[in-house]
Amino acid sequence: MVYTERTKHLTRAYRGPLARNIMKQECQEEALYAVVDAIPHFVWMMHPDGTFEYSNQRMRDYVDRTTDQLQGNGWIQILHPEDHERTLALRQHSLETGDPYENEYRFQNGQTGAYRWFLARAMPVRDEAGQIVKWFATATDVDEQKRTEEVLRQSQERASVLMNSNMIGIIVIEGEQIVDANDTFLRMTGYTREDLHAGRMNVMHMTTPEYLACTQQVLTTQQQITYEKEYVCKDGSRLSVLVCGVPLQQHPFQGIAFVLDNSARKELEQRKDDFLSMASHELKTPLTSLKLQIQLVKKRLEQQDLHDAAEALSRVEKPIGQLDRLITELLDVSKIQAGRLEFFQETINLDALLHNVVETMEQMNGAHTIVVHGAASLSLVGDKDRLEQVFINLLSNAIKYSPDAPLIEMDVSTSTETVTISVRDHGMGIPKEQHEKIFERFYRAFDPSQRAVPGVGMGLYIVAEIVKQYGGRITVESEVGKGSTFSVMLPLKEPILLHGDPIRE
Ligand code: ADP
Repeated sequence: MVYTERTKHLTRAYRGPLARNIMKQECQEEALYAVVDAIPHFVWMMHPDGTFEYSNQRMRDYVDRTTDQLQGNGWIQILHPEDHERTLALRQHSLETGDPYENEYRFQNGQTGAYRWFLARAMPVRDEAGQIVKWFATATDVDEQKRTEEVLRQSQERASVLMNSNMIGIIVIEGEQIVDANDTFLRMTGYTREDLHAGRMNVMHMTTPEYLACTQQVLTTQQQITYEKEYVCKDGSRLSVLVCGVPLQQHPFQGIAFVLDNSARKELEQRKDDFLSMASHELKTPLTSLKLQIQLVKKRLEQQDLHDAAEALSRVEKPIGQLDRLITELLDVSKIQAGRLEFFQETINLDALLHNVVETMEQMNGAHTIVVHGAASLSLVGDKDRLEQVFINLLSNAIKYSPDAPLIEMDVSTSTETVTISVRDHGMGIPKEQHEKIFERFYRAFDPSQRAVPGVGMGLYIVAEIVKQYGGRITVESEVGKGSTFSVMLPLKEPILLHGDPIRE
């Protein structure tokens, strides 16, 4: 309890009941002010007309002003300019009606100049006749809360802008069930919001059979990956899409998926494939008759002892052979795409096949030597031409990409289950990040030194497909500047049933 000088004096001078009463009242007031100064809120009092009368210590410290400075309308200076109009209007309303007042505004810290948000409340204090004699007001610091709310509002605004995107379909998935979807996704798939709310949108039910396994894998592994798939729309039609799933929670699985309509790209790809297939067929026929004509004319010239002319004609055979190989590869790629690459079944002496391929390649590329280590000493059942195509491709690549390293090595080894044939060069090598990509259709390494080497990125794609059809595997080990080793592993088991299994005559 705090005693003022006046209280002590009164107590000494008049020790009567009035003095005791006054003293008691004063003591109570002093105690009240002490409490009001101690609480972590701002407290102030206003006259009935709203002019400032008193503020607690906490408020005076924060605004760094004395009560005198806050008197009258001095307090307005500590308000954030953007809050003036609203605050004055609300205040005016309360003063006129006597209604309690509540408002959020920013007060300036008198020392730092920074503003913080406060929630202010004011109540009128009335006398026995109901007249307002004072206004009591408090303000609580709600700055943290306000800022959190603002961050949340901004992130909700961003999320809602994203959700309303009319380009990307967005769905929220719980387990297999789609629990929310934006209009774009509903439009893409033909479903309605009623379907969604009625639980009629299930990811697995909406996925075409070919993509069930990969969709299931994405849902169970809960990884963030982008993949292609097809949805079954409500009317049963198929929609080709690109999906990127982002997991949110582990149990039960919740995630967001962004879905992009991929049908235009797929259609374009199909048209490109159709064009390649048609163009390679159209080119192959006249080229075959051109080759036959050249051979015929060459034979006639030789019969007439016009050897120089026959020799000159031979010179066009090499570029025509290159053109032929290119067109054949294009045809093969088209066939692979359509799942129509034929394989014949015959018994193959692997060592003889490799020997032939090596001999041919050495004749064609005099600058390189191919050394074979080991032998298979076994026969395989499969398509001889296709197997030759594998090693011709690997050896011609080894030669092409090793202009300054003339030694090419071939290792042949067998185990009880596999025969492994490796082709090793000591040339340019392939950067690690491209090791998988080089087996993709039309992929070429982007290294400038390799760019100078002619090629179209079909060889390894065809090689990988043939090896796959044999039930085998192809791997690459390579280091830039040191060379590459391509290893083909073929299983030694009963003949594998290949596509169509036609028997070569
Ligand atoms: P192409 O040789 O016609 O470009 P391929 O499909 O045969 O097509 O090869 C794909 C890519 O792989 C090549 O562009 C090249 O970058 C890389 N590559 C293949 N073999 C080798 C090799 N032996 N050494 C270095 N790079 C190679």
